[in-house]
This record gives sequence, structure tokens and C-alpha cells, in this order.
Amino acid sequence: MLSFDEDIITRPAAAPQGTSAVSAATTAKRISADDKRVINGTTDVNQLVPFKHKWAWEKYLAQCANHWMPQEVNMQRDIEQWKTGQLTEDEMRIVKRNLGFFVTADSLAANNIVLGTYRQITSPECRQFLLRQAFDEAIHTHAYQYIVESLGLDEGEVFNAYNEIKSIRDKDQFLMPFIDVLTDPAFKTGTLETDQALLRSIIVFACIMEGLFFYVGFVQILALGRQNKMTGAAEQYQYILRDESMHCNFGIDLINSIKMENPQLWTEAFKTEITDLFRKAVELEYAYAEDTMPRGVLGLNAAQFKEYLRFIANRRMQQIGLNELFPGVTNPFPWMSEMIDLKKEKNFFETRVTEYQTGGALSWD
Ligand code: FE
Repeated sequence: MLSFDEDIITRPAAAPQGTSAVSAATTAKRISADDKRVINGTTDVNQLVPFKHKWAWEKYLAQCANHWMPQEVNMQRDIEQWKTGQLTEDEMRIVKRNLGFFVTADSLAANNIVLGTYRQITSPECRQFLLRQAFDEAIHTHAYQYIVESLGLDEGEVFNAYNEIKSIRDKDQFLMPFIDVLTDPAFKTGTLETDQALLRSIIVFACIMEGLFFYVGFVQILALGRQNKMTGAAEQYQYILRDESMHCNFGIDLINSIKMENPQLWTEAFKTEITDLFRKAVELEYAYAEDTMPRGVLGLNAAQFKEYLRFIANRRMQQIGLNELFPGVTNPFPWMSEMIDLKKEKNFFETRVTEYQTGGALSWD
């Protein structure tokens, strides 16, 4: 009979990349936090404590405190504005392009985590955050779908935008190789080459996709909200922005921990390669900005976005220990930081429905 008493002398060996290794028995040795590794660890991935990567656990708790659901947000005013011609054609283009990118982007992110990154991470506290992050991505896809449905947009057009709109397709095609490498069932870390491939993929996802490719869209919809337009959609984007900035910060801690535990991965050649990826990403996101905003709209123009994207790229690069690509640029949208720091109770756009049910209520009758 199973027992957890100390006098059990054999138990299943730890399974670094899977869930269990019931077949192999080894001498029992309790986990010491010092032995835990973010990648290529040999400790039992089912034992959350003792904590080593406590920052991941703390971010998991913080992200649970940020929980929200799309249907909590009232879309009535948005629907009215959308259907009664209160938006200009340029504003409507922004909304449609935005949804065209985002309706599939968070599914890409979710699949990348669940089918790719998660398997390779051997720290249970990091896995715990990734589980929460995967649910966040589902909520985001839900939110975009909720907006599409509320506004009565052509679903075929919106969900196919990543095939049919060049500026969106180009961004996704840039990302694909970094997803494909990890979702290949044969992919396995443990060599310099594969460990670098994993690290590269995490950097592309956290710092470039969630940390850069989302930001033109966020600024645009939040700028609409600041002018009292599409406030229901903007409120949801605000929650998503907060979630994504947490995902990005988690990713940065993950990257820096992998670097610290495996300094041999951070070679000059690797740094140059990552710097080139940032350069390319800024170009792609700027092309997307121009496509979504052929003329100035909402007091925004493409030149401001060029500056903003360079500002963000610098910041992300600095956060993972690379030299800035664009020295001297400043943030043309300082109001964006207020948006990230929102407290759920204090709703910026004041559109929240105060009485709602978040799900089926329990009944004991
Ligand atoms: Fe995310």
C-alpha cells in the first residue's frame, strides 16, 4: 500500500520532461531547492515545493488576482456606436485589423505554451505560472470572439485575416518557425543547440510577440477608449494588456533564470542573432502600424509608432541583458503605463456592469 512515510526507500524517479516515471524506481531522495533547474532539471516536476523559482509562484498568485472574464464587460454602447455610424472609416479599420490580428494571436500563444514550452520547463513553479498563462490566453481569445460577435462582424473575414492580410500574415510567419521548433514532438533540450533553440523561442514569444507585436494594437484600441469610443472593447483590451505585461515579465524572468543557470548559452553569436530578430520585429510591427493607420487618426500617427516600437524594443532588450538597438528614443505614449497599472476595482472607462453572475450559481435544493 502506498504511504508517504519516510521509511519508503524507493519511489519513482523524477521525470524531467514528462509527468511521471513510474517504470523506473530509484533510491528515494527528497528534493532540495538547490537542485531544481528551469531546464534540463532532474528533480520531480510534480513537487511544487520546496520553492527555488519563487518569483514564478509569486507571479502565478498575482495573475490569479488579476482574473477577469469577458462577459463581465457590457458591450451595449460599443454595439450602438458601431451600428449607428459613430465611428469614422479609419477608426473602424483599426478595430477590424486589430481583431484580425488578435483573434488568432492568442491561440498561437496558447498552443506554443501547451504543446511546446511547457514540456521543456522542469521547474514546477514555472509550470504553475504557464498553466495560468494558458488559461489567460483562452480568456483573451474568448474576449476577441466576444467583441467580434457583439459587433456582428464577418467571422470568416476576421478569423482569416492572418492568412489574408499581408501585414498580419508577415508577423505570424515571422513567429511560426519559433513555434514549430518546440511543438515538434521529437524536440528535446539537453544540447547546446537545442537549449539555445528553446531560449530563442522563449525570447521571441515573451519579448517580441507578447512584448512588442501586441503593442500597436493595444495603443490604438486604448486610444479609442480614451476618446470615449468602443469603451467595452477598450476595457477588455486594458485587462488583456495587464495580463500580457505579466506574461512578458514572467518570460523575462524565465529567460534570465535560464541564462543564470546555463551561462554557456549566452554566446556573442547568440546575442547578435537575437538583436537581429528584434530589428526585424520592429520593422514588421511598424509595417503593421502603417497598414492599420494609412492616415493619422485619433491623434496618432505612424511616426509616433516608429518611436514607440523602438522605445519598447530597447526596453525588452535591456531587460534580458542586451544592448539597446535605438539609443536615445523616448516614449511618445506615456499614458500607456497608467493603463498597465490598472486596479480592477477602479475601472478607467467606467463601463463595468456592477451586477453580474460569473457562472452557474450553485443550488443545493
Ligand atoms: Fe500572453
